[in-house]
Amino acid sequence: MAGNGRKVLLSGMQPTGMLHLGNYEGALKNWVRLQNSGQYEIYYCIVDWHALTTAYEDPSELEERIYQIAADYIAAGLDPEKVTLFVQSDVKQHAELHLLLSMIVPIPWLERVPSYKEKVETLGLDSYGFLGYPLLQTADIIIYRADAVPVGKDQLPHLELAREIVRRFNYFYGDVFPEPDALLSEAPFIPGTDNRKMSKSYDNHICMGDPPDRIQKRVMSYYTDETKIYRGDAGHPDTCPVFALLKIYAPEETEKIKSECESGSRNWGCVKCKKLLAEMLVEKFASFRKKREELLADREQLRRILRDGAEKARARAEETMKIVRRAMKMWNAG
Ligand code: SF4
Repeated sequence: MAGNGRKVLLSGMQPTGMLHLGNYEGALKNWVRLQNSGQYEIYYCIVDWHALTTAYEDPSELEERIYQIAADYIAAGLDPEKVTLFVQSDVKQHAELHLLLSMIVPIPWLERVPSYKEKVETLGLDSYGFLGYPLLQTADIIIYRADAVPVGKDQLPHLELAREIVRRFNYFYGDVFPEPDALLSEAPFIPGTDNRKMSKSYDNHICMGDPPDRIQKRVMSYYTDETKIYRGDAGHPDTCPVFALLKIYAPEETEKIKSECESGSRNWGCVKCKKLLAEMLVEKFASFRKKREELLADREQLRRILRDGAEKARARAEETMKIVRRAMKMWNAG
Protein backbone atom coordinates (compact mmCIF):
# COMPACT_ATOMS: atom_id res chain seq x y z
CA MET A 1 0.00 0.00 0.00
CA ALA A 2 1.32 3.47 -0.83
CA GLY A 3 1.40 6.35 1.65
CA ASN A 4 -1.75 7.77 0.03
CA GLY A 5 -3.70 4.58 0.85
CA ARG A 6 -3.82 3.41 -2.77
CA LYS A 7 -2.69 -0.06 -3.74
CA VAL A 8 0.64 -0.22 -5.52
CA LEU A 9 0.79 -1.80 -8.95
CA LEU A 10 3.86 -2.67 -11.03
CA SER A 11 4.22 -3.84 -14.57
CA GLY A 12 7.07 -4.00 -17.02
CA MET A 13 7.69 -4.42 -20.70
CA GLN A 14 10.91 -5.14 -22.56
CA PRO A 15 12.22 -2.42 -24.90
CA THR A 16 11.46 -4.28 -28.08
CA GLY A 17 11.07 -1.10 -30.15
CA MET A 18 7.73 -0.21 -31.69
CA LEU A 19 4.68 -1.84 -30.11
CA HIS A 20 2.47 -4.08 -32.21
CA LEU A 21 -1.26 -4.71 -32.08
CA GLY A 22 -0.75 -7.74 -29.82
CA ASN A 23 1.12 -5.62 -27.25
CA TYR A 24 -1.54 -2.95 -27.45
CA GLU A 25 -4.61 -5.15 -27.13
CA GLY A 26 -2.92 -7.59 -24.73
CA ALA A 27 -1.37 -5.20 -22.23
CA LEU A 28 -1.17 -1.52 -22.97
CA LYS A 29 -4.90 -0.87 -23.34
CA ASN A 30 -5.40 -2.47 -19.92
CA TRP A 31 -2.58 -0.37 -18.43
CA VAL A 32 -4.27 2.82 -19.63
CA ARG A 33 -7.57 1.62 -18.14
CA LEU A 34 -5.90 0.91 -14.78
CA GLN A 35 -4.24 4.32 -14.85
CA ASN A 36 -7.56 6.04 -15.50
CA SER A 37 -9.36 4.09 -12.76
CA GLY A 38 -7.42 6.17 -10.20
CA GLN A 39 -7.37 3.17 -7.84
CA TYR A 40 -3.66 2.46 -7.92
CA GLU A 41 -0.27 4.03 -7.51
CA ILE A 42 1.31 2.69 -10.67
CA TYR A 43 4.89 1.98 -11.68
CA TYR A 44 5.47 1.06 -15.34
CA CYS A 45 9.00 -0.08 -15.97
CA ILE A 46 10.88 -0.46 -19.26
CA VAL A 47 12.99 -3.47 -18.36
CA ASP A 48 16.20 -2.95 -20.33
CA TRP A 49 18.31 -5.30 -18.20
CA HIS A 50 15.90 -8.11 -19.02
CA ALA A 51 16.39 -7.40 -22.72
CA LEU A 52 20.07 -8.32 -22.30
CA THR A 53 19.16 -11.97 -21.78
CA THR A 54 18.81 -12.18 -25.56
CA ALA A 55 20.50 -8.98 -26.81
CA TYR A 56 23.76 -9.27 -24.87
CA GLU A 57 25.96 -9.66 -27.94
CA ASP A 58 24.96 -6.32 -29.38
CA PRO A 59 23.04 -4.04 -27.02
CA SER A 60 23.71 -0.96 -29.18
CA GLU A 61 20.09 -0.72 -30.31
CA LEU A 62 18.63 -0.74 -26.81
CA GLU A 63 18.73 3.02 -26.31
CA GLU A 64 16.75 3.69 -29.49
CA ARG A 65 14.27 0.96 -28.59
CA ILE A 66 13.72 2.58 -25.19
CA TYR A 67 12.83 5.87 -26.89
CA GLN A 68 10.51 4.06 -29.29
CA ILE A 69 8.64 2.16 -26.62
CA ALA A 70 8.37 5.17 -24.31
CA ALA A 71 6.91 7.20 -27.18
CA ASP A 72 4.46 4.39 -27.92
CA TYR A 73 3.36 4.13 -24.28
CA ILE A 74 2.69 7.83 -24.02
CA ALA A 75 1.08 8.15 -27.45
CA ALA A 76 -1.26 5.26 -26.53
CA GLY A 77 -2.48 7.11 -23.46
CA LEU A 78 -0.09 6.55 -20.55
CA ASP A 79 0.22 9.83 -18.73
CA PRO A 80 3.58 10.39 -16.96
CA GLU A 81 1.75 12.77 -14.60
CA LYS A 82 -0.47 9.92 -13.43
CA VAL A 83 1.92 6.97 -13.51
CA THR A 84 5.62 6.54 -12.83
CA LEU A 85 7.19 5.60 -16.15
CA PHE A 86 10.88 4.76 -15.97
CA VAL A 87 13.74 2.61 -17.19
CA GLN A 88 14.86 -0.30 -14.99
CA SER A 89 18.62 0.39 -15.24
CA ASP A 90 18.05 3.92 -13.89
CA VAL A 91 17.07 2.38 -10.53
CA LYS A 92 20.11 0.43 -9.33
CA GLN A 93 18.23 -0.78 -6.26
CA HIS A 94 16.62 -3.46 -8.47
CA ALA A 95 20.09 -4.98 -8.91
CA GLU A 96 20.90 -4.86 -5.20
CA LEU A 97 17.68 -6.61 -4.26
CA HIS A 98 18.16 -9.15 -7.06
CA LEU A 99 21.59 -10.00 -5.63
CA LEU A 100 20.24 -10.41 -2.09
CA LEU A 101 17.39 -12.60 -3.32
CA SER A 102 19.82 -14.74 -5.30
CA MET A 103 21.38 -15.81 -1.97
CA ILE A 104 18.15 -17.32 -0.65
CA VAL A 105 16.51 -18.84 -3.71
CA PRO A 106 17.25 -22.52 -4.48
CA ILE A 107 18.33 -23.09 -8.10
CA PRO A 108 15.63 -25.75 -8.79
CA TRP A 109 12.96 -23.09 -8.15
CA LEU A 110 14.32 -21.19 -11.15
CA GLU A 111 14.92 -24.24 -13.33
CA ARG A 112 11.35 -25.38 -13.08
CA VAL A 113 9.89 -22.13 -14.52
CA PRO A 114 8.16 -23.30 -17.74
CA SER A 115 9.47 -20.45 -19.93
CA TYR A 116 13.08 -21.28 -18.92
CA LYS A 117 12.78 -24.92 -19.95
CA GLU A 118 10.94 -24.04 -23.15
CA LYS A 119 13.41 -21.37 -24.26
CA VAL A 120 16.46 -23.48 -23.46
CA GLU A 121 14.97 -26.25 -25.61
CA THR A 122 13.84 -24.06 -28.53
CA LEU A 123 16.42 -21.28 -28.59
CA GLY A 124 19.32 -22.96 -26.82
CA LEU A 125 19.73 -19.92 -24.55
CA ASP A 126 21.60 -20.64 -21.38
CA SER A 127 23.15 -18.10 -19.09
CA TYR A 128 22.75 -17.10 -15.49
CA GLY A 129 20.89 -13.95 -16.66
CA PHE A 130 18.38 -16.14 -18.40
CA LEU A 131 18.00 -18.53 -15.46
CA GLY A 132 17.79 -15.58 -13.06
CA TYR A 133 15.26 -13.71 -15.20
CA PRO A 134 12.30 -14.50 -12.90
CA LEU A 135 14.40 -13.54 -9.90
CA LEU A 136 15.17 -10.10 -11.31
CA GLN A 137 11.51 -9.88 -12.25
CA THR A 138 10.62 -10.61 -8.61
CA ALA A 139 12.98 -7.85 -7.48
CA ASP A 140 11.34 -5.47 -10.01
CA ILE A 141 7.96 -6.13 -8.44
CA ILE A 142 8.65 -6.34 -4.74
CA ILE A 143 11.06 -3.43 -4.58
CA TYR A 144 7.95 -1.24 -4.91
CA ARG A 145 6.17 -3.44 -2.32
CA ALA A 146 3.60 -3.94 -5.07
CA ASP A 147 0.19 -5.27 -4.05
CA ALA A 148 -0.75 -6.32 -7.55
CA VAL A 149 0.66 -7.07 -10.99
CA PRO A 150 -1.47 -7.01 -14.16
CA VAL A 151 -0.71 -10.28 -15.92
CA GLY A 152 -2.01 -12.64 -18.56
CA LYS A 153 -2.57 -16.31 -17.69
CA ASP A 154 0.75 -17.33 -19.28
CA GLN A 155 2.67 -15.22 -16.75
CA LEU A 156 1.03 -16.76 -13.67
CA PRO A 157 3.91 -19.23 -12.97
CA HIS A 158 6.34 -16.28 -12.78
CA LEU A 159 4.12 -14.46 -10.32
CA GLU A 160 3.62 -17.60 -8.26
CA LEU A 161 7.40 -17.88 -8.01
CA ALA A 162 7.62 -14.25 -6.89
CA ARG A 163 5.07 -14.99 -4.16
CA GLU A 164 7.05 -18.04 -3.06
CA ILE A 165 10.25 -15.97 -2.88
CA VAL A 166 8.45 -13.33 -0.81
CA ARG A 167 7.30 -16.00 1.65
CA ARG A 168 10.83 -17.34 1.96
CA PHE A 169 12.31 -13.88 2.47
CA ASN A 170 9.68 -12.93 5.07
CA TYR A 171 10.25 -16.26 6.85
CA PHE A 172 13.98 -15.50 7.28
CA TYR A 173 13.88 -11.76 7.95
CA GLY A 174 10.41 -10.76 9.08
CA ASP A 175 7.38 -9.35 7.38
CA VAL A 176 8.95 -7.03 4.80
CA PHE A 177 7.13 -7.66 1.52
CA PRO A 178 3.44 -8.13 0.69
CA GLU A 179 2.69 -11.10 -1.59
CA PRO A 180 1.77 -9.52 -4.93
CA ASP A 181 -1.60 -10.58 -6.31
CA ALA A 182 -2.31 -11.26 -9.97
CA LEU A 183 -4.60 -8.77 -11.63
CA LEU A 184 -5.79 -11.05 -14.40
CA SER A 185 -6.89 -9.35 -17.57
CA GLU A 186 -8.81 -10.92 -20.43
CA ALA A 187 -6.92 -10.17 -23.60
CA PRO A 188 -8.23 -11.10 -27.04
CA PHE A 189 -6.10 -13.40 -29.19
CA ILE A 190 -4.39 -11.19 -31.76
CA PRO A 191 -3.33 -13.25 -34.77
CA GLY A 192 -0.35 -12.29 -36.89
CA THR A 193 -0.18 -12.50 -40.67
CA ASP A 194 0.47 -16.28 -40.47
CA ASN A 195 -2.39 -16.87 -38.00
CA ARG A 196 0.01 -17.58 -35.12
CA LYS A 197 0.01 -15.29 -32.08
CA MET A 198 1.28 -11.88 -33.17
CA SER A 199 4.94 -11.62 -32.24
CA LYS A 200 8.05 -9.85 -33.50
CA SER A 201 9.97 -13.10 -33.28
CA TYR A 202 7.63 -14.62 -35.89
CA ASP A 203 7.85 -11.45 -38.01
CA ASN A 204 4.07 -11.58 -38.44
CA HIS A 205 3.25 -8.32 -36.70
CA ILE A 206 1.73 -4.93 -37.48
CA CYS A 207 2.95 -2.02 -35.39
CA MET A 208 0.59 0.74 -34.38
CA GLY A 209 3.21 3.26 -35.45
CA ASP A 210 3.77 1.69 -38.89
CA PRO A 211 3.22 4.08 -41.82
CA PRO A 212 -0.04 3.49 -43.75
CA ASP A 213 1.65 1.85 -46.75
CA ARG A 214 3.33 -0.72 -44.49
CA ILE A 215 0.07 -1.43 -42.66
CA GLN A 216 -1.62 -1.98 -46.03
CA LYS A 217 1.16 -4.26 -47.24
CA ARG A 218 1.14 -6.32 -44.05
CA VAL A 219 -2.64 -6.68 -44.01
CA MET A 220 -2.70 -7.76 -47.68
CA SER A 221 -0.21 -10.53 -46.80
CA TYR A 222 -2.54 -12.05 -44.19
CA TYR A 223 -3.37 -15.73 -44.31
CA THR A 224 -7.16 -16.12 -44.53
CA ASP A 225 -9.12 -19.31 -45.11
CA GLU A 226 -7.35 -21.88 -47.29
CA THR A 227 -10.68 -23.40 -48.38
CA LYS A 228 -11.87 -20.07 -49.79
CA ILE A 229 -9.89 -19.90 -53.01
CA TYR A 230 -12.36 -18.08 -55.27
CA ARG A 231 -14.76 -15.33 -54.34
CA GLY A 232 -17.76 -17.63 -54.74
CA ASP A 233 -16.38 -20.27 -52.33
CA ALA A 234 -17.97 -20.45 -48.90
CA GLY A 235 -15.54 -19.40 -46.16
CA HIS A 236 -15.10 -19.94 -42.42
CA PRO A 237 -14.82 -16.54 -40.77
CA ASP A 238 -14.59 -17.99 -37.27
CA THR A 239 -11.14 -19.40 -38.02
CA CYS A 240 -9.99 -16.53 -40.25
CA PRO A 241 -7.42 -14.15 -38.68
CA VAL A 242 -8.58 -11.20 -40.78
CA PHE A 243 -12.08 -11.68 -39.45
CA ALA A 244 -10.72 -11.90 -35.87
CA LEU A 245 -9.17 -8.47 -36.33
CA LEU A 246 -12.26 -7.04 -38.03
CA LYS A 247 -14.26 -8.06 -34.94
CA ILE A 248 -12.05 -5.66 -32.96
CA TYR A 249 -11.52 -2.85 -35.46
CA ALA A 250 -14.76 -2.87 -37.49
CA PRO A 251 -17.31 -4.54 -35.18
CA GLU A 252 -20.30 -2.96 -36.88
CA GLU A 253 -19.38 -4.64 -40.20
CA THR A 254 -18.79 -8.18 -38.97
CA GLU A 255 -22.33 -9.52 -39.04
CA LYS A 256 -22.69 -8.64 -42.70
CA ILE A 257 -19.20 -9.94 -43.58
CA LYS A 258 -19.82 -13.22 -41.75
CA SER A 259 -22.98 -13.90 -43.70
CA GLU A 260 -21.44 -12.88 -47.07
CA CYS A 261 -18.37 -15.05 -46.40
CA GLU A 262 -20.24 -18.12 -45.18
CA SER A 263 -22.69 -18.03 -48.06
CA GLY A 264 -19.92 -17.63 -50.63
CA SER A 265 -21.45 -14.42 -51.94
CA ARG A 266 -19.84 -13.06 -55.11
CA ASN A 267 -20.19 -9.54 -53.70
CA TRP A 268 -17.59 -10.03 -51.01
CA GLY A 269 -14.16 -11.65 -50.93
CA CYS A 270 -10.94 -11.76 -48.92
CA VAL A 271 -9.41 -8.80 -50.75
CA LYS A 272 -12.33 -6.60 -49.72
CA CYS A 273 -12.01 -7.77 -46.12
CA LYS A 274 -8.32 -6.96 -46.10
CA LYS A 275 -8.83 -3.55 -47.68
CA LEU A 276 -11.43 -2.72 -45.04
CA LEU A 277 -9.17 -3.90 -42.23
CA ALA A 278 -6.20 -1.87 -43.52
CA GLU A 279 -8.41 1.21 -43.81
CA MET A 280 -9.70 0.80 -40.26
CA LEU A 281 -6.21 0.30 -38.82
CA VAL A 282 -4.77 3.30 -40.66
CA GLU A 283 -7.66 5.45 -39.41
CA LYS A 284 -7.74 4.10 -35.85
CA PHE A 285 -4.05 4.75 -35.22
CA ALA A 286 -3.73 8.04 -37.16
CA SER A 287 -3.67 10.27 -34.07
CA PHE A 288 -1.44 7.75 -32.27
CA ARG A 289 1.10 7.96 -35.13
CA LYS A 290 1.05 11.75 -35.09
CA LYS A 291 1.59 11.91 -31.33
CA ARG A 292 4.45 9.38 -31.37
CA GLU A 293 6.18 11.28 -34.19
CA GLU A 294 5.96 14.49 -32.16
CA LEU A 295 7.35 12.74 -29.10
CA LEU A 296 10.22 11.15 -31.01
CA ALA A 297 11.11 14.49 -32.56
CA ASP A 298 11.93 15.79 -29.06
CA ARG A 299 14.25 13.21 -27.46
CA GLU A 300 15.22 15.62 -24.70
CA GLN A 301 11.64 15.80 -23.50
CA LEU A 302 11.32 12.00 -23.57
CA ARG A 303 14.56 11.63 -21.66
CA ARG A 304 13.30 14.16 -19.08
CA ILE A 305 10.05 12.22 -18.63
CA LEU A 306 11.96 8.97 -18.05
CA ARG A 307 14.46 10.64 -15.70
CA ASP A 308 11.65 12.22 -13.64
CA GLY A 309 9.97 8.81 -13.49
CA ALA A 310 13.23 7.17 -12.38
CA GLU A 311 13.64 9.73 -9.63
CA LYS A 312 10.19 8.91 -8.22
CA ALA A 313 10.80 5.17 -8.60
CA ARG A 314 14.20 5.45 -6.89
CA ALA A 315 12.67 7.16 -3.87
CA ARG A 316 10.24 4.26 -3.30
CA ALA A 317 12.88 1.61 -4.13
CA GLU A 318 15.43 3.12 -1.74
CA GLU A 319 12.80 3.29 0.99
CA THR A 320 12.27 -0.46 0.50
CA MET A 321 16.00 -1.20 0.45
CA LYS A 322 16.46 0.60 3.77
CA ILE A 323 13.82 -1.71 5.27
CA VAL A 324 15.46 -4.75 3.63
CA ARG A 325 18.99 -3.88 4.80
CA ARG A 326 17.74 -3.32 8.34
CA ALA A 327 15.69 -6.53 8.31
CA MET A 328 18.76 -8.48 7.12
CA LYS A 329 21.01 -6.63 9.61
CA MET A 330 23.39 -5.76 6.79
CA TRP A 331 26.59 -3.80 7.30
CA ASN A 332 25.24 -1.02 5.06
CA ALA A 333 21.90 -0.76 6.94
CA GLY A 334 23.09 2.57 8.37
S1 SF4 B 1 -13.99 -13.27 -46.88
FE1 SF4 B 1 -13.13 -12.23 -45.10
S2 SF4 B 1 -13.82 -13.43 -43.36
FE2 SF4 B 1 -14.10 -14.70 -45.19
S3 SF4 B 1 -12.23 -15.93 -45.32
FE3 SF4 B 1 -11.95 -14.10 -46.59
S4 SF4 B 1 -10.95 -12.63 -45.23
FE4 SF4 B 1 -11.82 -14.20 -43.96
